[in-house]
Amino acid sequence: MQPLNANDHSKIANVYNELHAAGNHALGNPASSSQAAKPTHTAKPSHAAGQVSRRDALRAVGLVAGAAAIGSYAMPRGASARSMTQPVADLLASPTEPAEPAGFYRFKVGSFDCVALSDGVAVSSGSPQPTFAPDADKADIDKLLSDRYLPIDRSTMYFHTLLIDTGETVVLIDTGCGDLTGPATGKVEANLRAAGYTPEAITHIVITHAHLDHIGGLLTPDKAKRYANARLIVSRTEHDFWTSPTPDLSGLRMPDDTKKFFATLGKSTFETFKDSLDLIQPGDKILPGFEFIDAKGHTPGHMSLLITDGNDVVFNLADCAHHFLLMFARPEYSAIYDADPTQAVATRRKVFDRIAADRLNVVGYHMPSPGFGNIRRIAGGYEWLPRPWGL
Ligand SMILES: [Zn+2]
Repeated sequence: MQPLNANDHSKIANVYNELHAAGNHALGNPASSSQAAKPTHTAKPSHAAGQVSRRDALRAVGLVAGAAAIGSYAMPRGASARSMTQPVADLLASPTEPAEPAGFYRFKVGSFDCVALSDGVAVSSGSPQPTFAPDADKADIDKLLSDRYLPIDRSTMYFHTLLIDTGETVVLIDTGCGDLTGPATGKVEANLRAAGYTPEAITHIVITHAHLDHIGGLLTPDKAKRYANARLIVSRTEHDFWTSPTPDLSGLRMPDDTKKFFATLGKSTFETFKDSLDLIQPGDKILPGFEFIDAKGHTPGHMSLLITDGNDVVFNLADCAHHFLLMFARPEYSAIYDADPTQAVATRRKVFDRIAADRLNVVGYHMPSPGFGNIRRIAGGYEWLPRPWGL
């Protein structure tokens, strides 16, 4: 296995850097909690070399042209309706105007201050199948969607990291896509600043698993460490998988090029951060209030978390589900991203059963913004119940 092709990777980042310099890098000033950073829209992008690599990276997570940036649940002042509905096809083709940050959502777990931070929202043209359920009958998928008044020709991917401020530590769970997937995503830093934090304030980062939408935000476009003071907490199994000479990606139902992209990114990321890693096993007690839960299947070392203070808890689902309807109504469906589809389904059922039985509040990385909800059992499966704001 070749290490990440640094030239290719930096080419991707450089292209984004060029295209979005005005927007993304205008976010450099720490923002107070009452002041959302406001991108400027003055720089004219250059369509230079690297276009193919950029599209390859987008394709790797299914954010191909035809997607649309939408959604703003804490819409910054000045955000326009146009920026919420303009097709990402346009944004990707001529991204003269960066998409607005999608927002953040505060809640408490006991005395812990928690903030769900959106990394963005991307809508792709085409059915959610086969991405979310390659083994499913399309007629069943279409009926499930139609019965919920949802389109059958568009699919949405949400991305949420979670910040937990315990008073002693400031923990960020996952980091978003960074600059790897275009202007619809990569908004964690902007939203973190808008919520009143700086990257330097983060003391720990929990990496639930090493897929690009979870580790892409560790580096800035110029390859600097975005969270300079943070230790990275990662499952040893996950680390050992991606750093092995030949990680087994045969279970992923993706093109070989995409598998290679995932493998090289995982390996190079752990190499870059080798001096900042705390490798753990599920169950290890490394942070007070944090229970690390084995959720293998999506990746070999994939972890969920239960965060507790006093009698109050929130369960971080990580990637036990990628779609808020399909994988609840049909928990036997497995996304193309699952390394071991059979194990991923078994883990999902086990995790959902625990959450439903214990009536836990949940934050789901890929659930609809702000990602906060509950899970209950229904006939034949489960149901995701978005939690009303403020409750
Ligand atoms: Zn993910």
